[in-house]
Amino acid sequence: MSIVKGSILSKVLPNIKRKTRQGGQEGVRMERVGERDAGATRILIIEDEKPIADLLDMSLTSAGYSCDCLDNGTDAADAAESRKYDLILLDVMLPGIDGFELMEYLAPLDIPVIFITARSAVKDRIKGLKLGADDYIVKPFEIAELLARVETVLRRYHKTESRIAVGDVVVDTQSRVVTKAGEVVPLTAKEYNLLMLFLQNKNIALFRETIYERVWENEYMGDSRTVDLHVQRLRKKLGWQERIAAVYKVGYRLEVREE
Ligand code: CA
Repeated sequence: MSIVKGSILSKVLPNIKRKTRQGGQEGVRMERVGERDAGATRILIIEDEKPIADLLDMSLTSAGYSCDCLDNGTDAADAAESRKYDLILLDVMLPGIDGFELMEYLAPLDIPVIFITARSAVKDRIKGLKLGADDYIVKPFEIAELLARVETVLRRYHKTESRIAVGDVVVDTQSRVVTKAGEVVPLTAKEYNLLMLFLQNKNIALFRETIYERVWENEYMGDSRTVDLHVQRLRKKLGWQERIAAVYKVGYRLEVREE
């Protein structure tokens, strides 16, 4: 997780540049396009309230995105112009140039923008959308809603990865075909959904009831055997006995180390 801290220009921009250079994996990514990790999707967070910026960063990083945070429109305009980002989360109320003014600058860059606004006034939402924003989120928001909106906007722009790779396991989310070391692994629909839930929540301990409610789309009645059985089947099929770790009194966690 990388949080670009501080508001001093000289501190912020070098961080961005350094990060870009570290992306020396760019060449590798180009060659392996389609096989890169979901973490390659880059999001620029423009938000001056640090707790909210941190929350966005943490939530999106946990979900596998790569994030940079900036707290003012001037730096954000420079960063956005680098065209390194797949999506921008833009706060409306910013010091100096506000989100609406910045939007007029960002619109021609063809990077999808989601407004983050504390204002619930309908006219502000409409203004944001008229200026070319793709969606908006009203503070306070729930993480699940944030992730869903981000995913929807990225999908609309065809910028979600259609292939997600973890180790030698590759998921093609368009064909829903899963391979391990190049061999197709037949999964049931529930096993596939379970795998996707883990992949969308890398390194996060998921409660059995959360897993049940998300995968089975049903209310959890306290019977954990269904979840446990499917996790065991998934572990066996993918050779992920270690990777899908049991979390005492909670449930399970997919462990993915950062490369
Ligand atoms: Ca603000």
